[in-house]
Amino acid sequence: MISRVAFYPGSFDPITCGHLDIAERALRLFEQLIVGVASSHNKNTLFSQQERVAQVECAVSRAFPDAASRLNVVGFESLLIESMREHEARVIVRGMRAVSDFEFEFQLAGMNRALAPDIETVFLTASDKYHFLSSRFVREIALMGGDIAGFVPSSVASALKEKAKNQEKFRPTSSDATS
Ligand code: ADP
Repeated sequence: MISRVAFYPGSFDPITCGHLDIAERALRLFEQLIVGVASSHNKNTLFSQQERVAQVECAVSRAFPDAASRLNVVGFESLLIESMREHEARVIVRGMRAVSDFEFEFQLAGMNRALAPDIETVFLTASDKYHFLSSRFVREIALMGGDIAGFVPSSVASALKEKAKNQEKFRPTSSDATS
């Protein structure tokens, strides 16, 4: 059976323009795209899964208004392949930026193939201008007060500014350190 449903999993902490670029390409290839926001138990995420799902929903609905009926956003806690089976998806979409992504992505694809031989992983590359872009750098720049406007959807930029403001409030001052 040929699957026309693809699943794009990730932490999306937060979603960036690079992620949106990959989603746009996947929408050109598959009839249905499910963006799966991982709970990331093993990662200390800046945003909760609920916040990340809401951010991804807002970003994709604004970026791809014509694809609303072909695009779903779901949070998942279980093993990726189990969540895919639940949604009848047979293709994993992953983004590849540079050689540095290769080893991890290759191992992940191999593990998923060993667990579920009927599920294929496809790798897409984003536009050159996003090759350097990662959620991690976006978080670090934003929390240090840098301008990340060109790297993330505007709703995410606002959420990051809010986080940065809150972190500022709780950051110890030099007088705290001496008291
Ligand atoms: P994970 O924790 O699963 O790596 P991420 O949210 O960091 O989740 O990334 C999800 C997927 O999107 C990964 O395949 C990653 O390589 C890809 N990706 C992230 N940023 C970019 C980008 N700027 N260009 C292309 N692919 C990207």
